[in-house]
Amino acid sequence: MSIQTKNRILHSSQGFTLMEILCIIAIVGLLVAIAVPGYLHTRRSTRAKICISNLQKIDTAKETWAFDEFKTTGIVPSMSELLPYLHNNGRSFQCALGPPGEDVSDSYEPNPIGAAPTCKHAPDDHKL
Ligand SMILES: [Zn+2]
Repeated sequence: MSIQTKNRILHSSQGFTLMEILCIIAIVGLLVAIAVPGYLHTRRSTRAKICISNLQKIDTAKETWAFDEFKTTGIVPSMSELLPYLHNNGRSFQCALGPPGEDVSDSYEPNPIGAAPTCKHAPDDHKL
């Protein structure tokens, strides 16, 4: 290998130019700008669906409790009365917007028999 060939190989590996780096940063920034709003929307939608699923479980537990205890419309059960009917295997039962470790009674309001339970964290978005 000649000296000229060695010099050409050594000088050809100088790295990226400033324009190449700026183009890469612009492309990555564009991809992030496209992906992040979709990700946030999906995360918010998933959390709302989980909460609505919890509200459906609470509503079913409330109706079962009312049937078992011969309660009529208008009576409000406590969450401790509903816990045996929730069948949640002892796991935490809370809205996804609440702080971790929150109790079920901190996240949800059971409301009277005949009315749907409500989420305390996002009552307008998380409802049956
Ligand atoms: Zn909620």
